Formats: sequence, structure tokens, C-alpha cells
Amino acid sequence: MPIWICKTCGAHSALNDAPPPHCIICDDERQFVPEGGQAWIAREALISTHVNEWSELEPNLIAIGVSPAIGIGQRALLVLSPHGNVLWDCTPVLDGKTRDRILELGGIKAICPSHPHFYTGMVEWSEALGGVPILLPEADLAHVMRPSEHIQPWRGDRHEVLPGIVLHRLGSHFEGSSVLEWQAGAEGKGALLVGDTMQVVPARGWVSFMYSFPNLIPLPAREVRRIAGRVAEIRFDRIYGAWSDKLIASGAGESVARSAERYIRRLET
Ligand SMILES: [Zn+2]
Ligand SMILES: [Zn+2]
Repeated sequence: MPIWICKTCGAHSALNDAPPPHCIICDDERQFVPEGGQAWIAREALISTHVNEWSELEPNLIAIGVSPAIGIGQRALLVLSPHGNVLWDCTPVLDGKTRDRILELGGIKAICPSHPHFYTGMVEWSEALGGVPILLPEADLAHVMRPSEHIQPWRGDRHEVLPGIVLHRLGSHFEGSSVLEWQAGAEGKGALLVGDTMQVVPARGWVSFMYSFPNLIPLPAREVRRIAGRVAEIRFDRIYGAWSDKLIASGAGESVARSAERYIRRLET
């Protein structure tokens, strides 16, 4: 039975002869169903036309994208550590070459998507790499399109995945929206992988916050204040955002603080 992939967000559906009528993720007001309606593509059709792209961002951090881009152009970040490797976020496609390269690096201990817009092919990745646990905040389980025995819900605001690699659930965009603290990143100063829990914006050294990015629905000031307070407790110097050009190379803690202050000032004046 085929896996159906949502053309708009890249989410995989449960195995079924026919595509499902709706995509839970795109029906939500934080995404959208495009003009022309919900469309699906069979995974088997994609795998012959799309490949993964692999690039090292810094020592022990590898970006894995899909070319040509599909869905919202998701990329995954593979964090290598002496205690095992962690996949942050995910992509709709995993090709055989990439699977083999990851296995040569020791495989993956956990798959940690930042939020439902990056769930994409997480179950396929898990199964292809030997049944890797998929760590999802309990708060977002209702957005899962393809259930799996490998999904391991976690509760609370903080979850240590491996020594030095910690999930922080900040909420906001989604109730379960998270960031990944990688303490060895940025030459030991710490890196934060943020997905779009906060969005790295084009002006250098700034981020922003939204409930819905495509539909431009902002977050309330109290939420942005709360997020900034949580982030201030994490030691890091660098931020990797959801896409390849989304980087704050240094001073990123200060970037979040001043960006939150600017956002709140706009909402409250
Ligand atoms: Zn979708
Ligand atoms: Zn999103």
C-alpha cells in the first residue's frame, strides 16, 4: 500500500490504497489548503525524482534537505555526538544513499521534530534506520498523520535526549513547539536549533515569533515575553533556524532578547 505525501506540507499519511480526504496539518489555521484543493503524491513517485542534499554546517552538524524542494522546503539537522546522534526536524524524502551514510555514522538515537510542520516523513526515517524513537511532545499528538509504535510522547517543558542534547518545549506557534539545545555546538559555546519556534528573519541578528507564518497571525505579547524568559535560561551563542539561510552565527542570546522586546513594544503601543 502506498504512503501518500501532502503536496503542501510534506506530511506522510498512514498506509492506504487511496489518499486521505484531508491533511490535518494543512486544514489547521497555521497552514493552508491551496487553490485547487488538497493534493497528494505517492511516495514511490517522489523517490525516483527527488534526492537528499547533504552539507556540513559546522563540525558534527549536518543539514539534510531535499532537491528539488517539496512541501515547505523542510530540512533536517543531524547532530553527531559521542553519546549517539540525534535528528532534529525531518524531511518528506529519505533516499538510500543518505540512509547508508547515516548508518555508517552510527545511526540515530532519536528523531526530534520541532513541530507538526516538520513531521513529514518521520515514521519512514524511523523505520528505515531500525525503529528509531520519535520524540513528540504530548501536546501535539493530535497532529500526527501517520501513527507509529515508534512515537514516544514526552511531557513537561524539558527533556534530555542524550547528555548535552536537550529539548525545551516553548510552545507558541504550536503548544508543543520546541527547540533543541546542543551544548557542544558553536565551538562549545552552545547552539540552539529552533525550527520556526522562533523565526530567523532576513535582518542580521534578529528573530520573530508568529502563531501562523503563512497566514500572518501574531502571538500575544505575554507569550513572546514568556518565551524570551525561557530562552534566557539556556546557554547558547548560535541559532540555526528552520531553513538554510536562517542562521545567527554568534550573540544569538542577545538577538532573541532584543527581538522579543521589539515585538512586544509593537504590540503594546
Ligand atoms: Zn499537509
Ligand atoms: Zn511551522
